[in-house]
Amino acid sequence: MDVSWIPGSADGIVVACVAIVAAAGGWWAVRSRRSGKSQPPPQGDITAPPSASAPTEVPTRQKPHGPPADIPEDVSSRFERRRARVGGAFGARLASFFGRSDYDDSAWDELEDALLTADVGSTMTERILASVRARVQGGESSPRDAVREALIEAMDPLADRSLSLGVPGDGNLAAVLVVGVNGVGKTTTVGKLARVLVAEGHTVVLGAADTFRAAAADQLETWGTRVGVITVRAAKEGADPASVAFEAARSARAEGTDVVLVDTAGRLQNKAGLMDQLGKVARVVEKVAPVRETLLVLDATTGQNGLVQARVFAAAVALTGVVLTKMDGTAKGGIVLAVQNSLEVPVKFVGLGEGVDDLAPFDVEGFVDGLLDG
Ligand code: GDP
Repeated sequence: MDVSWIPGSADGIVVACVAIVAAAGGWWAVRSRRSGKSQPPPQGDITAPPSASAPTEVPTRQKPHGPPADIPEDVSSRFERRRARVGGAFGARLASFFGRSDYDDSAWDELEDALLTADVGSTMTERILASVRARVQGGESSPRDAVREALIEAMDPLADRSLSLGVPGDGNLAAVLVVGVNGVGKTTTVGKLARVLVAEGHTVVLGAADTFRAAAADQLETWGTRVGVITVRAAKEGADPASVAFEAARSARAEGTDVVLVDTAGRLQNKAGLMDQLGKVARVVEKVAPVRETLLVLDATTGQNGLVQARVFAAAVALTGVVLTKMDGTAKGGIVLAVQNSLEVPVKFVGLGEGVDDLAPFDVEGFVDGLLDG
């Protein structure tokens, strides 16, 4: 019997059985889609994390309750369609700079202010300012073209922003960890990203390893249902995040899934504890599947504060990309430059709203044109 697909009240029975078995045997257990039985941890190089035996920490797999409700929007043109959302106050300041009749010292002060206010950061501001000045004063370009070119150059247009996840359907499991502090839009990003990956043909399992925030697992499971993928979650709040992440990866491996997407906990009250925990999540998942991407989610509206968070995370885990959320309607879009320059990690995706398809691959030229036209 395929117990992982039993809905409603039967779930409770299965969870209870799993908990009893785990408590009695002291080993890891999860409902198995193929055999319908709880299984011990696999042997060899795949081992359960040490704290995985408590009954309250037994993760469960949540069946998606039907197919995805709708068809995701084409990913490649998402940014273009939402370009107007990134302009805001920064765009208005630039427009004022472009409209000047004279490019004297006050003009350069105006551009400097616009860049600093947009949280471009002092290092990048100086670099951009020098480049624009040289181009305009040398008669090479109009102020608008000079700013456009300088911003594009500063954003590292040739950086590889793709996710290294292999070919959809190849069954070579790749793990993606999504990290960041609470409230930045991490869980939402995991859901939106799952939707993108499924639309591209990947098979996906979600891991709800944010076990500290009330309702985070419910929120993720709702996304899983919407996207039509399984969510592995702890039976109770406060479980060991590494245990859940491990079980999500193991479950994904057992299913021959392409990608396991792990939502992690993001409390920053105890920095050292959080960072230890993230390191543990990464190590434990790595025992099952290579961690191909570790994406840091930052809230663009927090500007330079986000940069401080970013450095803390970068010190704890090897980041491969940044997702900047809430880029819609923020005047702090310049944080893209500051983050990339400071971390030397590319912004790979941007959140441009609260809708299910409001996550777009970052497009340097589209972003700069959005800023300039705003
Ligand atoms: P978490 O605590 O980091 O997991 O944050 P959540 O995923 O729960 O998101 C927190 C809030 O941010 C929710 O209300 C989301 O809808 C909202 N949010 C996430 N991404 C975006 C975005 O790109 N734009 C806007 N406007 N809101 C967003």
